[in-house]
Amino acid sequence: MRLPKLRELKEAVTAVFSPRFTTRFPAEPCVVPERYRGKPKFDLDTCIGCGACVNVCPTNALTQINDIEADPLVRKITLQCDACIFCGNCRDNCTTETGITLSNEWDLAAMDRESFIETHEFELQICEKCGAIIGTKKHLVWLYEKLGPLAYTNPSLLLAKSGELLTKPQDIQGAPNTVCRVGEPQQQPDRVAETSDFMRILCPKCKCELNIQL
Ligand code: SF4
Ligand code: SF4
Repeated sequence: MRLPKLRELKEAVTAVFSPRFTTRFPAEPCVVPERYRGKPKFDLDTCIGCGACVNVCPTNALTQINDIEADPLVRKITLQCDACIFCGNCRDNCTTETGITLSNEWDLAAMDRESFIETHEFELQICEKCGAIIGTKKHLVWLYEKLGPLAYTNPSLLLAKSGELLTKPQDIQGAPNTVCRVGEPQQQPDRVAETSDFMRILCPKCKCELNIQL
């Protein structure tokens, strides 16, 4: 019994003369370690709205819906930070690798749960033949840029890219006040595929049917 008491006494005396390990927050800002996993943050320049992060989120802090009532159709990706466990799965599985990161923001307390919710919208691309949702327009453009010259084998990617280039009114000759609708949906699901369909944005199913048929 005597030895453990001496050991504790030694630890207590050592602790009195050691530097402080706790921070003085909130009197002073708390500096977190470099690799600290804090609040997830989207980088909307590189996030393409693909939804891969949603699929790997273990707590459903990330969710998505395709809003087919909106005009244009959009995918809404929502982060509900109070359900996040800061596991980093979203960051580790992000398609573009930088679309979402864990920041060093940790002081997240709030009185209102609504303030934890943030939603981002991404315009959707639908199949011009059957109307099925293919993905977000940003995702198709990202694929085009990722594939480089190989993208020329896929007219859907070329058209998605050309749609992105011609979305500003000033880019369209003779139509200063209109927005170009390259790739505007023309849904005719029961129509037999024609050669001209090659130059439409098609879902994989319609593309496959077209290839078999022609
Ligand atoms: S850190 Fe984990 S729990 Fe939080 S949003 Fe990302 S995947 Fe979901
Ligand atoms: S996986 Fe990355 S690019 Fe895709 S929606 Fe999530 S954050 Fe954005």
